[in-house]
Amino acid sequence: MKMASTQEKLMEHVMEEEPTGSRNKVTVVGVGMVGMACTISILMKELADEIALVDVMEDKLKGETMDLQHGSLFLRTPKIVCDKDYSVTANSKVVVVTAGARQQEGESRLNLVQRNVNIFKFIIPNIVKYSPNCILLIVSNPVDILTYVAWKLSGFPRNRIIGSGTNLDSARFRHLMGERLKIHPSSCHGWVIGEHGDSSVPVWSGVNVAGVNLQTLNPEMGSDSDKEDWKSVHKMVVDSAYEVIKLKGYTSWAIGLSVADLVETMMKNLCKVHPVSTLVQGMHGVKDEVFLSLPCVLGNCGLTNVVHMTLQPAEEKQLVKSAETLWGVQKELTL
Ligand code: NAD
Repeated sequence: MKMASTQEKLMEHVMEEEPTGSRNKVTVVGVGMVGMACTISILMKELADEIALVDVMEDKLKGETMDLQHGSLFLRTPKIVCDKDYSVTANSKVVVVTAGARQQEGESRLNLVQRNVNIFKFIIPNIVKYSPNCILLIVSNPVDILTYVAWKLSGFPRNRIIGSGTNLDSARFRHLMGERLKIHPSSCHGWVIGEHGDSSVPVWSGVNVAGVNLQTLNPEMGSDSDKEDWKSVHKMVVDSAYEVIKLKGYTSWAIGLSVADLVETMMKNLCKVHPVSTLVQGMHGVKDEVFLSLPCVLGNCGLTNVVHMTLQPAEEKQLVKSAETLWGVQKELTL
């Protein structure tokens, strides 16, 4: 007769059928600085009952996973798994893609494009194979172009392809606005839309605190003639990634936190509005098939609505210009 194990001696097993798997699984592809910052933020917010990690660097992947598992006592996500094989990602609700080359000091995001497109040609079909109903959240740069690439490669409907877009740029803007006004960023309302990065568009006409439009207090706000030089706040947003990369080599914490905020809205079906990258063809005069950030409603189906912003003609013009820049790059890509 087989000896009962310690586990069998400890407990009477009463369930006959196989236990159901996870119900709220999130996958993070790429366990670099950004992927791990996203992962720890998602873990700390207790958004998933299973986290799967994938990377091509097997030792690093295993090391990062073990390190997180050793913290299980302090977490509320019972299953943290990894593999370079995508079967580990099966049945994910949300898949966050952070894999790929990152900017070198002084390098623009657009410069990364072909390297990361080639990586996506492998990653995206594998995600689709194992999680055909997931929401894809693209973080790798240049994020707007790679979101378009992921849309094309996946064949997913546009509501299930989201780029983290200017969610981070807007967070940086609201942080800097808060520093100037000595108010917490959550009470400083300002939207940075368009391309994530160099040609992003700050919507000065909508900047407000408690519904008080700051342009009614300072009509020059955002213009060159503004004595308070609010324009420099947006310049700092654009420069901030370059500055952080120069100082520490990469950016990670802010993008990790901002991605976890998006994942929370989707996993909990909060229907909150975030500035994220979506297909904007036909909106605000954009003619090209490009992804840019606009305020979007997110929930457990992904991106359900795009808010019609009341933009000034100059703001729309900047958006169209960003779209043309992106399309110029996209049309040269071989997918
Ligand atoms: P990193 O070099 O630290 O990590 C990248 C990881 O991707 C590495 O672990 C690498 O092994 C992995 N990888 C490469 N090819 C892969 C493949 N085919 N499959 C799976 N994994 C693969 O870089 P990082 O600092 O973490 O940055 C990652 C990306 O995020 C970059 O493109 C960066 O520009 C971007 N980023 C985006 C934002 C944003 O706001 N959207 C902010 C910061 C960084």
